[in-house]
Amino acid sequence: MSIITIDGPAGAGKSTVSKELARRLGFTYLDTGAMYRAAAWFARSRGIDCRDSKAVSSICPDLDIHFEDQRIHVNGKDVSHLIRTQEMDALSSAISRIPELREQLTRIQREMGRKGNLVAEGRDMGTVVFPDADFKFFLMASAEERAMRRKIQLDSSGEKVLYENILLQIKARDRADANRSVAPLRPAPDAEIIDSTGLDVDDVIGIMLAKIKGK
Ligand code: C5P
Repeated sequence: MSIITIDGPAGAGKSTVSKELARRLGFTYLDTGAMYRAAAWFARSRGIDCRDSKAVSSICPDLDIHFEDQRIHVNGKDVSHLIRTQEMDALSSAISRIPELREQLTRIQREMGRKGNLVAEGRDMGTVVFPDADFKFFLMASAEERAMRRKIQLDSSGEKVLYENILLQIKARDRADANRSVAPLRPAPDAEIIDSTGLDVDDVIGIMLAKIKGK
């Protein structure tokens, strides 16, 4: 019944690593960034400004976010692809500053954690949502490397964006995530910090598995 948390800034390779680690351990993978994105998508679809805390709070009780076979649904709609855009990068970061929304998503995340054997990926998994997790990792990489990885990802999905713009956005999002007053992005005191600059997915998973298996 273990919980493993993987936190870190945008583009540090958390998703690829978390998914693969969950697969190798036979654990469930929980992508909490997708939940903030789905909430932002839902707000946007209702014409709500993601920075308007009153308006966002008012939709919290209606928000039904759940996963089905690794696909994310919000109020019955599969938004798995719709949330992976530049616009949703920015809107999810904005909406994630609203405490009522964080409380709501934290509740859903803990509910999923009750079943155990979970790899939970996000920004506040080790600090706020699962402070008693069995293993905590904080994955980072230089902003330049993260921007390059994101560019490759966006190119492959057909979205053409300049590297320089991605780099600026990543730095702005880092600042916003680290400086917000609720659940700011920072490593839990008991998290193992892994700098993935220059490492590939297998290297990072090797470091994690060594720790988990107590080697
Ligand atoms: O990880 P991803 O880029 O999909 O997350 C989208 C946004 O959701 C992040 O910029 C961050 O502001 C927010 N987020 C958060 N807490 C989490 C996961 C994501 O605030 N646990």
